Amino acid sequence: MVSLQPADINPSSIVDRSPNQQILPLSAKVSDGGQLEVGGCSVVELVKQYGSPLYIVDEQTVRAACQQYDQAFKNFYPGPSQVLYASKAWSCMAICALVTSENLGLDVVSGGELYTALQAGVDPNNIYFHGNNKSIAELEMALASGCTIVADNWLELEQLVALEKAQESQGTAPRVMLRITPGIECHTHEYIRTGHLDSKFGFDPNQIDQVLNFAQNNPQLDWVGFHAHIGSQIFELQPHQDLTSVVVSWLTMAHSRNLSMTELNIGGGLGMRYVESDDPPSITQWSEVVCQGIVQACQAAQIPLPKLLCEPGRSLIGPACITAYTVGAHKSIPDIRTYLTVDGGMSDNPRPITYQSVYSAAIANRMETAATEVVTVAGKHCESGDVLLKDIALPASQPQDVLVVMGTGAYNYSMASNYNRLPRPAAVLVRDGEANPILKRETYSDLIRQDCLPRYLEQSVADEHNGNQTG
Ligand SMILES: *Cc1c(COP(=O)(O)O)cnc(C)c1O
Repeated sequence: MVSLQPADINPSSIVDRSPNQQILPLSAKVSDGGQLEVGGCSVVELVKQYGSPLYIVDEQTVRAACQQYDQAFKNFYPGPSQVLYASKAWSCMAICALVTSENLGLDVVSGGELYTALQAGVDPNNIYFHGNNKSIAELEMALASGCTIVADNWLELEQLVALEKAQESQGTAPRVMLRITPGIECHTHEYIRTGHLDSKFGFDPNQIDQVLNFAQNNPQLDWVGFHAHIGSQIFELQPHQDLTSVVVSWLTMAHSRNLSMTELNIGGGLGMRYVESDDPPSITQWSEVVCQGIVQACQAAQIPLPKLLCEPGRSLIGPACITAYTVGAHKSIPDIRTYLTVDGGMSDNPRPITYQSVYSAAIANRMETAATEVVTVAGKHCESGDVLLKDIALPASQPQDVLVVMGTGAYNYSMASNYNRLPRPAAVLVRDGEANPILKRETYSDLIRQDCLPRYLEQSVADEHNGNQTG
């Protein structure tokens, strides 16, 4: 069950609470009558107006997370720093524009995410392009935009050199960072672990000498520094502390060769609280450990402080969003379980079926009603595994009630699909009692927008149609 203490929620304490340690968005309140409000808007009213499923994003939570990262890096790191938002967690124009308005940069991992960021008006000087298999077209797009490219492998380095030559470089040398596998283990799901040696991402650390040789032999590119990312939903501080000395050791190698590299990006990965038992460090605690680790390692190695970058995704956007669904059928199987069905599922939140992720939920119109039943919240997809929450205690609910799942800002919309041809949900950004759409709900005609009918099939459909009419 979610513990909600409306008394604790007052504007002065909001900025002090680390969003990634909260299950509900910071502005969440329960009004008289047990109605859940976010950003001053009633969740039930939002569903009446925009339909369901609906992603509801609390602007205050996003801004607080951005500010806490930014402030912590300014407070704990004496050198230059820049916080980037890992836009793959939720890439759309409004989210890109929102985090950018808080002075964050952005990382992108595809041409599509780069395009979205550029369309949202993000300055390419603050965009970092990752990816372990960028296409030639993506590299060309990245070079043309002037963003920083985080090179992942040998093929990419060779392609970059060739493309730079072909373009006869329009003045400034392309900025390139090198992603190296740090060889750090951390306890998180296998699919979201990226830093151990057996990873598809980044150069093998045993090849760092050859990579630096390559950089020295190609001074036409601007080799700005190193990048590493160890994984996601990490609750321990130790792996990130260990990472700081590893990345500084790479920088020290570059310095000993007189290669001027001045930036280190230590990735993202800080976890967030999905259920009560999750206990992640705060944004400030994580930042302090990372900043102090880099400072100490640089002092020990006697090298100047680099510009320090980090790129949180989940901890920054995850806690800001709840997904509202309309409750449908109950199915009670005596002595086994009760299924409560909602009007979305794995298409708007593929994390439970993909990673066995757990979430918290509540009935938005019964926030003050005691939980009296244990139910399994199932989606509407043709897949038995389409279950959003297993065995969760909720108040007794009725069809048309509004069920909310918390902490759905990260890797929900960005991984959403049209499975079973469900139109993807709308999203609204809420603040001060006002809701602004940031994604329109897809329509049925959106679903067939890219469909093509070969001529001869078009004919048979028409025939069938005629047949149906006459028959
Ligand atoms: C996914 C990813 C991130 C963000 O990870 P979170 O766990 O969402 O903070 C940052 N950097 C890279 C390279 C990533 O792949």
